[in-house]
Formats: sequence, structure tokens, C-alpha cells
Amino acid sequence: MNYISTRGLAPSLGFEDVLLAGLARDGGLYVPETWPRLEKQAIASLAGRPFAEVAVEVIQPFAGGAFSREELLAMARDAYATFGHPAVTPLVQLNSNLWVLELFHGPTLAFKDVAMQLLARLMDHVLKRRGRRATIVGATSGDTGGAAIEAFRGSKAVDVVILYPAGRVSDVQRRMMTTPRERNVHAIAIDGTFDDCQALVKGMFNDHAFRDRMQLAGVNSINWARIVAQVTYYFVAAVALGAPHRPVSFVVPTGNFGDIFAGYVARQMGLPIERLVIASNVNDILPRTVATGVYEKRGVTATTSPSMDIEVSSNFERYLFEAQGRDSALIRGQMAALAQSGRFEVKGGPELLARDFSAASASEEDVAEIIRRTRQVSGYMTEPHTACGLVAAERCLKPGSTPQVVLSTAHPAKFPDTIERILGERPQLPPRLASLMTDEERTTLLPNDLRAVESFIEQHAGAAAEQLG
Ligand SMILES: *Cc1c(COP(=O)(O)O)cnc(C)c1O
Repeated sequence: MNYISTRGLAPSLGFEDVLLAGLARDGGLYVPETWPRLEKQAIASLAGRPFAEVAVEVIQPFAGGAFSREELLAMARDAYATFGHPAVTPLVQLNSNLWVLELFHGPTLAFKDVAMQLLARLMDHVLKRRGRRATIVGATSGDTGGAAIEAFRGSKAVDVVILYPAGRVSDVQRRMMTTPRERNVHAIAIDGTFDDCQALVKGMFNDHAFRDRMQLAGVNSINWARIVAQVTYYFVAAVALGAPHRPVSFVVPTGNFGDIFAGYVARQMGLPIERLVIASNVNDILPRTVATGVYEKRGVTATTSPSMDIEVSSNFERYLFEAQGRDSALIRGQMAALAQSGRFEVKGGPELLARDFSAASASEEDVAEIIRRTRQVSGYMTEPHTACGLVAAERCLKPGSTPQVVLSTAHPAKFPDTIERILGERPQLPPRLASLMTDEERTTLLPNDLRAVESFIEQHAGAAAEQLG
């Protein structure tokens, strides 16, 4: 399987290189040249299989021979053994037709562990095979950073450098990044927003000399392997609820468009998904785009669901490339317009978008109301990102026979202050995280400045040291 850049000016690469590259050299994102399909029978045969085995069936067609089935299965088993639930991503039924898919049983209590635990093993495997090392750089709005650090801590082949917006992540999120003591872990607080952090990471990747010197590799949701790893749970959940014999609808709290794009990939592969619903908080650039056909930046507001306080939804470019007929010149024009004037028009307009997605945004009041109501009616405690999904399910999906699955992206204990304010009770961290709130922290505060960040990384990461001596 080969991968091509959405912007059409970078060489096509195989899976291993895409795994290590992250962003393409022309600033675009890698997408598969063709979409592998699972036939109805193959989908039906996933029923009742362990999560790691389903992961192999889903990922193998995209990996194009980079790993044997046995290698892939061993890495998947190892990755998902870090989860605190035997089903890895269990479904919890809330009412006759509504389920929550709990994606938060990994080491950092957010859905990003599902992809990151596997990604780290795939990367380590490829680096070892090539006798290379790499510097992972990533931006986080809260959860990616902890998941990346947890997945790569102690790796001999990589340094992991995570930029997070100072003061804009929760205490639990910050501590997951700043308490690991391994020397290959570097948590950097940036004086800015998540979008600033993401722009810095893009800046480092576009600085080709720095990128080569430090052997940069990306693990943000622009990394194709992460998207593919997330496709697994769409299959697991849909098959448990009757696919391929009946369709299922998914509601996805999304910011960077990564998780919902994984659902789109599942659909491209043949999974019968009736509606794919984009759920956002008041940072509603995606619902506005679906309604108007115009993608337009208006600034980011801080909310109780910080992982969705985003208005540069990087993976949206992958969808645009596909839906607009794989026209890379058109994508280049739209991205140039976005950089210059903060907006662009989707070719095909709202009609095109409505064919593929529904969308709704939840206010802070909506979020608090549905967290309270869910606790009252079904006894279930949830958190603000998932709550945006529950709100979007009510607004966008008709009651009927199609099962509705809301992806639950974080454990309530990641946002204890918010939950306590809303519910009057404080969610408890699972016992395995008992020392998190008292362990010593280690972090560096840097200005929102590319040179400052690059120079810090050159001084502290192993890839440069290796080159010097
Ligand atoms: C990252 C994250 C999201 C958004 O995921 P995308 O990949 O940006 O769609 C939603 N909820 C939580 C808790 C997250 O950590």
C-alpha cells in the first residue's frame, strides 16, 4: 500500500515511512492511494474476537506487508494489555437504543491511548529494524501529550518532546506529562494556545534542516497510523451491535477531526455506518462548516472540554481531499486561503458535507445539564467531552431502530473539578494512578517562538547528541 500527500507535491511513501514521517514534506497529510475493503463476511467474522485480533484485521491491509500478521498481533496484544478493562473498549448501554463506547481504560484515561500504545510499538519496531533513532515531537490540547509520553517513556530509540499550552490543561493532564522521570521525556509548556503549539510543531516539520538533524517523527493525529489504529473500535462496537447485518450510527466528540475521520475510514472500508455525527463544544467551526460549506476561523474559547478547544482541525484536510475528488491543487488553494484570510469554501458546499456527516455544538450549559441528567436517569457518570457527544446525539439522531453509539473519550476523573462543580461529587482516579497528584513535576516554560523551541530540543534530545558524537 502506498500513501500520497493531500497537497500532491511530496513523494509517495510506504507504510513504514508514513509511520515515521507524520506530516508530508509539502505540508500535506498522507492518505492511502486506495481504500481496502472488508467484505460483509469478513466483517461478520470479527464478532466475538479479542480486540487485538480485530486490530490486526483492520490494520494489516493498510500496512502493506510492513509487518507479518504474527508481529502485528504480538504488538497489538502487548499494547492492549496496558488497558484496565478486558474488553479494552467496552460498550455501556444507557437506554434502549443508546450506548456509550468507553475508550478511556488505557494508562492515561483518554481515548488517545488506544492508538498511541500501538503506535509506539510499531515505531520502536521499525526504528530498531533500521538501526535508527527519532525525536517525537507533538502538540497537545491535553490528552495526546500524556498518551504519547506514557507510550514512549523509557524507549531507547526515541526522545519524546511534547508542547502543551501553559495553564490550559487540567492538573491531571499536566501531571501525566510532567511526572514521568525517564530522561527521554521532555514536557514543554508554551506561553500560548493549543493552535500555537500545533503551529510550532508544523514549523519544526517545515524546517527541513532541523527535521533531518533531529530525525523528527510525529505522533499527533496527523500521523496516519494513529488514525488507522482508531478504526478498530468502530468495527468492534458496530459488530457487537449487529453489523454488518444492521447499520449503526456513531457520535464523535471531535476537535482535530482525527477520531471522526477514523469513523469515515471505517465506512470507506465497508462498515455500515448510518450517520456519523460530529460533536463539538462552543468552538463550533466544524458544525458551522457542515451548515454553511464555509470553513471560517473565529478564535478559540476555553471550555470545560479543553481537548476540543481547537479551530485548526488538521485531519479535515484528509476528508476534503477525498470528498472533493482527490484534487490536490484545490487543497493547496484552500489551505493558502485559510493561512491568508482565515477561511475557505468547500467545493460541493453544505450538500456534500451533509451527505457524510451531521453535526452539533454544545454550550457549557448544555454540557452541565446533560451530565446531571445522565447521572440522574441512568446513574452513569460522564465528563464534558463525552457530554458534547450525548448532546449531539439528541439533536442529530432520530429515535428508531439504528443503534446509536456515543464515543466516550475520557474518564471523568481527568476533570475532577468540573465534575464536582456540576454534580457535587468528586470522581475518583483508579487506584493504579494513586501517586499521580503527589509525584514531583518536571517541566520547562518556553515562549511561543519556533527558534526558542528548536534550540531547547537540540540541547536536550538524544538524536542530536548522537550525531555530534
Ligand atoms: C483528543 C480528544 C478529543 C478529540 O479528538 P480528535 O482526534 O481531535 O477528534 C476528544 N476528547 C478527548 C478527551 C480527547 O482527548
